[in-house]
Amino acid sequence: MQLDIQNVSKRFGTFHALNRVSLTIRSGELVALLGPSGSGKTTLLRVIAGLEAPDDGQVLFADEDITTLPARNRQVGFVFQHYALFRHMTTAQNIAFGLKVRKPKVPQAEINHRVDLLLKLVQLESMAHRYPSQLSGGQRQRVALARALAIEPRLLLLDEPFGALDAQVRKELRRWLRRLHDDMNLTGVFVTHDQEEAMEIADRVVVMNHGEIEQTGTPTEIYDHPATPFVYQFLGNVNRMECRLAAGHVTIARTKIAVPNCEHHEDTAAIAFVRPHDLELTKENDADGSIPLTVRHILILGPLVRLELEGPDHLTLEAELTRTQLEALHPVSDGSLLKVRFRTIRLFFTQ
Ligand code: ATP
Repeated sequence: MQLDIQNVSKRFGTFHALNRVSLTIRSGELVALLGPSGSGKTTLLRVIAGLEAPDDGQVLFADEDITTLPARNRQVGFVFQHYALFRHMTTAQNIAFGLKVRKPKVPQAEINHRVDLLLKLVQLESMAHRYPSQLSGGQRQRVALARALAIEPRLLLLDEPFGALDAQVRKELRRWLRRLHDDMNLTGVFVTHDQEEAMEIADRVVVMNHGEIEQTGTPTEIYDHPATPFVYQFLGNVNRMECRLAAGHVTIARTKIAVPNCEHHEDTAAIAFVRPHDLELTKENDADGSIPLTVRHILILGPLVRLELEGPDHLTLEAELTRTQLEALHPVSDGSLLKVRFRTIRLFFTQ
């Protein structure tokens, strides 16, 4: 069952939290809404859930217009960042809650059976009679997930579900959610501002900024082919350089660098982006089209090494090398002179 969001806008007073957002989520997909704080991720999730009414646009589920359908009739499971469990209820009672209040009444034997299955699914059988205060953060979030799944939702929505947990637990739960999603063939949307989380578990990532979608694609597509400067900068480290493009060359820090397959010939201002691992450093003096640099700082990060470099015209760059690549430059230390070429460079016109 497909979810279609069509030209949805949402304003709070004069502020545009969502601006003509359109998005299709296919049946069985796990989609991440990724973006900085305030970009509209939660608002979009709440519009899908029916907790927020859009000012314009439509939400369709399996071709049915559900824009004005109340949240309780949407058969949507919701998991929040903060567990929102009932403190006076045990794990089993929390999971059973959605079924108990359901109309028409679900027989008790069926509720018990469903709760047993869910406890097994989230691997909390031995914690069935514990209260939330007797569970770890990760366990509580698994209860919240089981509770959301109990009503057999057509769609599972998660708002920063692992945001409040420490890094190790978050990592485990991410993989666990992905497996659960595959086993149950769920359709799910989750909000995150953590790009690693989005890349690791989503089938598709929707990058949001200022209430609009900047790009939608698989994790590989958006990392390898960012559509806008914003996406480039938001997804991992990148060197950003102001430059000029003319006749198949860019000029960066007084050095002319050939841009293959460039059909643009007019003199134009542009921004060049290069990922730190796409810097090729050498000590060769006659390296053509390469920029001279001075090493300012070397930082060893386990198997990787980060170099801070300085060039002409106040150019500063960050390079990421493997330990083996660093050894090939030996000796290198603060103050060493190197030359750099770019393995790939991406240009965006600014005029
Ligand atoms: P975060 O990652 O910080 O949760 P977000 O991308 O989920 O951010 P939203 O919560 O969707 O962002 O908020 C988008 C914008 O809308 C923010 O600037 C927020 O202040 C504003 N906003 C959200 N809800 C309301 C509201 N009920 N009244 C007024 N402004 C709101």
